Amino acid sequence: MNTSTDDQFDVIIIGAGVMGSSTAYHAAKTGLKTLLLEQFDFLHHRGSSHGESRTIRATYLQHHYYPLVMESYELWQQAEAEAGYKVYFKAHHFDMGPHDDPTILAIINNCRKHGIPHQLLRPREAAEKFSGRFNLPEDWIGLSNEFGGVIKPSKAVAMFQALAFKNGAVLKDNAKVIDMKREKDYKDKGIVVFTAGGEKFRGKKCVVTAGAWVNKLVKTVIGIELPIQPIETHVMYWRVKQGHEGKFSIGGDFPTFASFGKKIYVYGTPTLEYPGLVKVAVHGGNPCDPDKRPWGSGVMVEELREWVEGRFSGMVDSSGPVVKQACMYSMTPDEDFVIDFLGGEFGKDVVVGGGFSGHGFKMAPVIGRILTQLVVDGEASGVDLKHFRIGRFNTTTSKL
Ligand SMILES: Cc1cc2nc3c(=O)[nH]c(=O)nc-3n(C[C@H](O)[C@H](O)[C@H](O)COP(=O)(O)OP(=O)(O)OC[C@H]3O[C@@H](n4cnc5c(N)ncnc54)[C@H](O)[C@@H]3O)c2cc1C
Repeated sequence: MNTSTDDQFDVIIIGAGVMGSSTAYHAAKTGLKTLLLEQFDFLHHRGSSHGESRTIRATYLQHHYYPLVMESYELWQQAEAEAGYKVYFKAHHFDMGPHDDPTILAIINNCRKHGIPHQLLRPREAAEKFSGRFNLPEDWIGLSNEFGGVIKPSKAVAMFQALAFKNGAVLKDNAKVIDMKREKDYKDKGIVVFTAGGEKFRGKKCVVTAGAWVNKLVKTVIGIELPIQPIETHVMYWRVKQGHEGKFSIGGDFPTFASFGKKIYVYGTPTLEYPGLVKVAVHGGNPCDPDKRPWGSGVMVEELREWVEGRFSGMVDSSGPVVKQACMYSMTPDEDFVIDFLGGEFGKDVVVGGGFSGHGFKMAPVIGRILTQLVVDGEASGVDLKHFRIGRFNTTTSKL
């Protein structure tokens, strides 16, 4: 692998989570001389992209995610075909919550707007459809549709890295980027990237996909604070009671699911990675410094226990989760992503992809495509970037 300090690249990508790895694959496939840098070991467990399952679903409160998810379904399958193995497992999806909950109402509206075939279910109908596995309170409503599924995250990141390498990208881990500078006398006025190990790489363009660390890096480089808050959260797995295990397995009729309401936003996936266990977790967590993690004991476990007890008709042991895995979100105030040029002295030569707010994994293939197009062409097709601009935040950042 050639990583000499004289190397010049078309594009340098900083951060090898799912977003950076997918971008490296797209960039290398486009024919760009690509370098992917990662501060820790590849496939480490200290960021956001490790683990065993992520939900993919088309039902969103915000209508602008629908085309991105639909394109992602195709791109996941294309990448799988190139790699020769599966990372996406099909399932239906089921949303539920109080019948007047604004999120549920917005999701129903978006299904109608985008022509997503769906079934609205009253509690009795939901119980019938799922043979008693979901028990909804009387004033709740359910919404079932075919666009769900599970992606295997660690395997998917490894897949993108392997495909990037196969397409000629240089991949380098244990290379923490500590600074970036515009090189004044460089012939294409490129970017120089400096690592903690004293290495120096030149790129015509640069993409920052540093996950929960994005704010730290951007602040060092350009002195601006992005409102992206690292949050520590936990995935939790619960034991399905004896005799019911098969009813919660992927590949049958048990869906990926999300449950909304004032108290708690719960999500989960069918049994796939651990036999006899179903994933049920909370969307949310506690603010943290990504370099000084609390490695806490779980988020809203008591509320989750109640949820498991109430919703699964006694078929899942609600005494407590049997497996917990810590992970980090990088949250924006509106939970929309940040996809934009860094600006300042870097103009359009550095693009940031961050703030994926606990729901970005499913769209990683399309984010890779968008970040590559932005950095190469200065614009990206099939996406309205106004939802993702840095300038939508407060004045400190909008001056970018
Ligand atoms: C518990 C949990 C459940 C989730 N569930 C879902 C779900 O069901 N569906 C869904 O779509 N999404 C889900 N998400 C969200 C999704 O996983 C994230 O949006 C996505 O993984 C973010 O990827 P990333 O590449 O931006 O960040 P990361 O994976 O954190 O990658 C950033 C990388 O940059 C590296 N880095 C940082 N700074 C530097 C530097 N200075 N130099 C070099 N490298 C650097 C880091 O080490 C890291 O490897 C979930 C997230 C969590 C934590």
